[in-house]
Amino acid sequence: MGYRFLKLASSSFKTGSVRIGIRHYSSTHDADLVVIGSGPGGYVAAIKAAQLGLKTVSVEKDPSLGGTCLNVGCIPSKALLHNSHLYHQAKHDFKNRGIEVSNVSYDFKAMMAYKEKAVKGLTGGIAMLFQKNKVQLVRGVGTIVAPNKVEVNGEKGTETINTKNILIATGSEVTPFPGVTFDEKQIITSTGALSLTEVPKKMLVIGAGVIGLELGSVYQRLGADVTAIEFLDSIGGIGIDAEVSKSLQKILAKQGMKFKLGTKVLGVRKEGGGVKVDVEAAKGGNKEVMDCDVVLISIGRRPYTKGLGLEKVGIALDDRGRVPVNNHFQTTVPGIYAIGDVIHGPMLAHKAEDEGIVCVEGIKGMPVHFNYDAIPSVIYTHPEVGWVGKTEEDLKKEGKAYKVGKFPFLANSRAKTNDETDGFVKVLADKATDVILGTHIIGPGAGELINEAVLAQEYGAAAEDVARVCHAHPTCAEALREANLAAYIGKPINF
Ligand code: FAD
Ligand code: NAD
Repeated sequence: MGYRFLKLASSSFKTGSVRIGIRHYSSTHDADLVVIGSGPGGYVAAIKAAQLGLKTVSVEKDPSLGGTCLNVGCIPSKALLHNSHLYHQAKHDFKNRGIEVSNVSYDFKAMMAYKEKAVKGLTGGIAMLFQKNKVQLVRGVGTIVAPNKVEVNGEKGTETINTKNILIATGSEVTPFPGVTFDEKQIITSTGALSLTEVPKKMLVIGAGVIGLELGSVYQRLGADVTAIEFLDSIGGIGIDAEVSKSLQKILAKQGMKFKLGTKVLGVRKEGGGVKVDVEAAKGGNKEVMDCDVVLISIGRRPYTKGLGLEKVGIALDDRGRVPVNNHFQTTVPGIYAIGDVIHGPMLAHKAEDEGIVCVEGIKGMPVHFNYDAIPSVIYTHPEVGWVGKTEEDLKKEGKAYKVGKFPFLANSRAKTNDETDGFVKVLADKATDVILGTHIIGPGAGELINEAVLAQEYGAAAEDVARVCHAHPTCAEALREANLAAYIGKPINF
């Protein structure tokens, strides 16, 4: 790799806060770019940088690569969502389809082992990709000690990397609940919810956002009595269209999930082997004590910058603890960049990845363009929810004249054939120009379908453009086409 290995000292001595056995390694590398954090933002940026010819070092403090997304986020949650859905379908739906299975049950330990296998396969894959692309991995906590110097404290002692550029991709962590200590067994974060040893009988979820609905769904399908407590009067978190949110709540309630909306949580305490949650109406009054075996607290995530040493180089965080960057992802210090959950914008893996790519292209002198209006959001419940662009509420607030095209899955031949007719597609287009401003889907495969809407929005398509594109039949994507037809000309064909 051409990095200079300077010093290997044998003895027990201390550097910074690290003291390791009898052999202490201290080395110095030279790099064009040091990427701190190997989540989807950091690892993708590191690979892209190496592909563009930059001598790239990735620094990761955790034993496993891939960050939140691969280890305790997107991937394990989707493994549990997929398999709990299959179980639920086998138990409650197969008979209607003429499939006889007797004694449908699950082995929770095996389900968790499957999830682990999915995580291991993908995190191991990153190490191979690093090798293939010649990204040097340095394990340990990365601290920026000067604008061109990163110190890494890990098992090998302290390693110093002199570098032309630094990319901060340190991600986020769970937002704590004031006064509550997580034991990750009964009072849990999403990380605990991904590694419970048994399915709770009664589960409370504080926060009916994305994590609450996804992980609440997993345990509800496996037989837990799940109630989601939400401060707002709606579910689904930030950015969801109000009509879609209402529809999702109705569908999930039909599946058995309970909701307590407009409710403030006052405290969480362990008592008599269970957990008590004190709540009151968000508008005041009406206090109540709710009990459960396990409470999942999912009230958001916050940027993670612990130990990074930003104060040493004069980078001040904004009022929400994020690293401020300009439209080239450069911080207030030239040569130091930041992307992903640690900066502004939605906390999503694909957003972090794409920022990483354009950021390193910018470092190489290429143009930097990032369209925050074309980032899809997906909630992986059943049915899924997917959206991109503006909601009706956004457009009303902006005073923008718009038209709506809607098409229900009840009128889509594939959805009807598959008996998956819950939901609809809603397209919002500019009233004067027909340009698509937003697409909102709740229904079968919404998480896949939304990508066609993202492509259309990214290329500035009008509703007519999508409506005139030939779509395969019979597919659920035809509902997206019909909703565009409804937005463009006011009349879909099949509804
Ligand atoms: P992270 O993935 O958080 O990675 C940051 C990395 O930096 C970590 O590996 C950390 O150990 C390392 N690090 C931090 N500080 C240092 C340091 N000083 N030195 C060395 N290393 C350091 N998003 C989606 O788009 N789709 C989903 O389905 C989805 N599901 C989710 C489910 C759950 C339960 C959770 C919690 C999140 C989910 N997310 C999902 C969000 C997604 O995981 C994040 O948006 C994404 O991981 C952010 O990527 P990142 O690279 O910015 O940071
Ligand atoms: P979120 O912002 O989606 O939802 C948090 C919810 O908690 C909100 O509805 C909020 O009103 C509510 N809330 C906040 N404080 C509360 C309180 N004291 N009492 C009751 N309700 C309260 O956050 P999350 O679900 O924790 O997810 C964190 C991040 O992870 C999100 O930004 C999300 O983008 C990301 N994520 C994405 C996916 C996905 O893309 N499918 C899945 C999981 C997580």
